[in-house]
Amino acid sequence: MKIIDEVKNAASIAISGHIRPDGDCVGSVMGLYLYLKKELPGAEVDVFLEKPAEIFDCISHIEEIKSEINTDKIYDVFIVLDCADDRLGDAGPLFENAGKRINIDHHISNPGCGDVRIVEADRSSTAELLYDLMDADKIDREIATALYIGIIHDTGVLRYSNTSPRTLQVAAELIKYGFDFSDIIQKTFYEKTYVQTQIMGRAVLESVRFMNNRCIVSMVSRRMMDFYQVGPKDLEGIVNQLQVVKDVDCAIFMYETGTLEYKVSLRSNGSVDVASVAMKFGGGGHVRAAGCTMNGTYHDNINNLSKGIAEQLNIK
Ligand code: 5GP
Ligand code: MN
Repeated sequence: MKIIDEVKNAASIAISGHIRPDGDCVGSVMGLYLYLKKELPGAEVDVFLEKPAEIFDCISHIEEIKSEINTDKIYDVFIVLDCADDRLGDAGPLFENAGKRINIDHHISNPGCGDVRIVEADRSSTAELLYDLMDADKIDREIATALYIGIIHDTGVLRYSNTSPRTLQVAAELIKYGFDFSDIIQKTFYEKTYVQTQIMGRAVLESVRFMNNRCIVSMVSRRMMDFYQVGPKDLEGIVNQLQVVKDVDCAIFMYETGTLEYKVSLRSNGSVDVASVAMKFGGGGHVRAAGCTMNGTYHDNINNLSKGIAEQLNIK
């Protein structure tokens, strides 16, 4: 199946992804946007997303992302990428009202939504899946750059276990378009500002291990975020840093989003299915990387998450 067959008769198409967009979400949304604009020059193609982090400014036409939403508008087709309709944020009503609703995702926790559901949980990233839904000869350097960013961010630069032979083949095809992949990896994945490094250091310093050192947890409060003058986008990567500690099976990181409200990130080495833990609290994700939003104190949240984790690790 090719995506163009699903949308070629549409006069208006909207594309969106999840709130707090990560590299795969931004890369997929922009890759598909650039592709459809090029393939369907007569159609109106719009892209809606929460403002991405500045590191993604290297993606062409990223400034065309719209944040103002006219919920009365009815699109012929609405494509939701890298999530289900429950994490669309303000673009949710546009999806509901669209003539045809398409969902393309790779999250095991997503049962699919809309009229056309392409959810492949064995894909490293939505960007990898999208590559196979595009005609390779219609891809250009700008589209390739966006898709490549999606793949490297969701695979930790082709390193996590979700990297398959197909992932590497797609990445190999993409770098043939000649963008500076080494620079893109450095600038979008590894490089951190000084304050981002400082707050990561602080979170690591204040981390605590429990469950026989098999779990590690840390938290960043609103006061800390105010002190370092950082926002949620600056906290990317902290949970992965906790997960690399020797003998840790499961890492938990949370930051305060409101009064008694925390955004939780979970990572595991595979011995805990963190998607199932996150789903208990209304979240989701993958076996080794998942998230949710929790209400309650920091310690209550740790206790509640620990129950599901301890069960899986057979710890009484
Ligand atoms: P992160 O911890 O980096 O925010 O997210 C890890 C993975 O879990 C990503 O694939 C992300 O899309 C997913 N995820 C994070 N938070 C939520 C959530 O609240 N709901 C759902 N369904 N998925 C989430
Ligand atoms: Mn993804």
